[in-house]
Amino acid sequence: MARKKRQPLAVPELIVRKREGGKLGEQEIQDLIAGFMDGSVTDYQMSAMAMAVYFRGMDFDETVAMTLAMRDSGEVVHLDDIDAPKVDKHSTGGVGDKVSICLAPIVAACGVVVPMMSGRSLGHTGGTLDKLEAIPGFRVDLSVREFRAQLRKIGCALIGQTGDLAPADKRLYALRDVTGTVESIPLITASILSKKLAEGIDALVLDVKVGRGAFMKTQADARELARCLVRVGTLAGKRVSALLTDMNTPIGYTIGNALETAEALEILHGEGPNDLRELTYDLAAEMLRAARVCKTKAQALRRIEATVADGSALQKMRHIVEAQGGDPSVVDAPSQLAVARHRSTVTATSDGYVTNLDPLQLGYASMALGAGRSRAEDLVDSGAGIRLHIQLGDRVHAGDDVATLYTSKRALLDTGARRVASAVRIGKQRPVKRKRLIETIRR
Ligand code: URA
Repeated sequence: MARKKRQPLAVPELIVRKREGGKLGEQEIQDLIAGFMDGSVTDYQMSAMAMAVYFRGMDFDETVAMTLAMRDSGEVVHLDDIDAPKVDKHSTGGVGDKVSICLAPIVAACGVVVPMMSGRSLGHTGGTLDKLEAIPGFRVDLSVREFRAQLRKIGCALIGQTGDLAPADKRLYALRDVTGTVESIPLITASILSKKLAEGIDALVLDVKVGRGAFMKTQADARELARCLVRVGTLAGKRVSALLTDMNTPIGYTIGNALETAEALEILHGEGPNDLRELTYDLAAEMLRAARVCKTKAQALRRIEATVADGSALQKMRHIVEAQGGDPSVVDAPSQLAVARHRSTVTATSDGYVTNLDPLQLGYASMALGAGRSRAEDLVDSGAGIRLHIQLGDRVHAGDDVATLYTSKRALLDTGARRVASAVRIGKQRPVKRKRLIETIRR
């Protein structure tokens, strides 16, 4: 069918209307996104619109229209020919968040198809794709055809946002990232859901992070974002739920790509840090419930524990790594993953309890060591990062090692060490340790 010819869009008028707190119509939003894609709406106009939305917000109808227009900016994959429930998980971004790497094979080993599309690190938050690429040979750039074939064969694929899926989000996110317009509930909702709705899933579980290391700093804001994501996703025909989880300390002991991948693989061996295991299992249980494979959380947890204990989750990961060109021997020996050769340690300056492990400072420290990027085109140092030797509430003595730093560029060690030292506080009073899971939000 021939596409209806679009009327020229009065973009400055739309920007002014939004700036003054007015509402955009569904057709106007569709035309805005179509214009952004064909170049008739410029990057500076779109950035100005993002800032107007940041300050004035969007109501529910506008957010739905924005989400669907961005989803329809590229290919929408249909996986109806795969006769199994298809469920993905998405995190709003945290520090030390390597959950996807152990979660996906566990859930796939429980009989759910996991078409997982992830992002790269940007700013202080890490990205699953950079972590996976620490595995020698691992390819995240599968074509849509390869993605489908792997899902059919193995039941799980871990890929990047291909240029074909929700390209409007890719371009808009790049602008938001450099124009101070990331932390907007309607824009985050449209960004996350546009790509997830294009993936061909039946259900989606969201990990909405809250705290100092997250985009949402307060529980009220995180709850509002979670509710918005659940409502819009449900309206778009998917089963969507969200877990609000704490991001006031980094997850596990490691920050940085190879270090985090190794730690995530340890979970598949039945080892690794307790907080990482608990969070992974909570999210996996919600995915099994959303897939209708298990009715209760207790049932789901038993199934998850069994797939780890009998090695089937590990076997699934070997198959995924092999199918995506990686070296599967790494799955059996995670410590093989290469860390950078220049190292230094940060030590405790007094006796006491660890009362603060600031995730934001640690995220920036990891970036300063070369593990992250400040611009989308930067290359990451896969072996760089931080291994913490302590967690919140641990007792330490002056002179104890609290962290080891890794980098390929020796000159970066001092800045990294200063940042790590400023992130760790030691006090006399043992702090209350919080559970990661705060609340589950369903329709
Ligand atoms: N993650 C996304 O994919 N998009 C956002 O806008 C924020 C976090």
